[in-house]
Amino acid sequence: MKKILIGTHNKGKFGEISFLLSKKIQKVSPIKLRIKSPKETEKTFSKNAELKAKYFSRFTELPVISDDSGLCIKALGEKPGIYSARWAKKHGSFLNSMKFILKKMKNKKNRSATFVCSLSFKYPRGKMVTVVGKLKGLISHKILGTKGFGYDPIFIPNKKTITFGQMPKFKKIIMDHRYIAFKKLKRKVKIL
Ligand code: IMP
Repeated sequence: MKKILIGTHNKGKFGEISFLLSKKIQKVSPIKLRIKSPKETEKTFSKNAELKAKYFSRFTELPVISDDSGLCIKALGEKPGIYSARWAKKHGSFLNSMKFILKKMKNKKNRSATFVCSLSFKYPRGKMVTVVGKLKGLISHKILGTKGFGYDPIFIPNKKTITFGQMPKFKKIIMDHRYIAFKKLKRKVKIL
C-alpha cells in the first residue's frame, strides 16, 4: 500500500486531507512519528507550505503533503491571513479569536473574506509541486455552528446562506479552499 505523510499537527486539516486522498493510500501523521511542527517563518502561504513539506521530508522517506492556509479578511487588511493559527494562540482559543474578529468587524460594511490554502507535495528526495486554492465568502455577524474547525463558524461561502460551522462536514470538505487546491494538485501529481 502506498503511504503519504500528511505534514500537519492540526486534526481538522489532517482529517480533510485524508478524506481527499485515495482510500488506497495509507495516511501517516507526524504526531505518530513524534515529529514536531516547524516554525512558519515565511511571509506567504505557498512558501510556508513548501517550508513544511521540506521540513517533514527530512524525517521520512515517504512522500509528504503539507498545507498552509488561513482566512484573509478584506476590511482587516487581509488579516489574519498567514497568522490565522497564531491569532488563535495569541487570543487563547479560536473562539476568542473569532470574537475579536467580529468586534473589529462591527462597523465594517465590507465583510468580504477569502479562505486560502497552499498545498505542497514533495516526492522523496525529489521535486516539489505547490498549488493554491481560494474560496471567497463573507464574515458572518455571529459565531454560528459547531461543526468543522478553526474559523469555520464565522465564514459564509459565496452563494450559501450558512457558515461552514453549520454545514455537514462532507459538504464543506468538497467545496472549500483545500479541496480547490487539491483538485489542482491531483492534476499535477498522478499518484494522488
Ligand atoms: P496553519 O496553516 O497551520 O498556519 O494554520 C492555518 C489556520 O487557519 C488553521 O489553524 C485554522 O485556524 C485556519 N484555517 C485554515 N483552513 C481552515 C478551514 O478550512 N476552516 C477553518 N479554519 C481554517
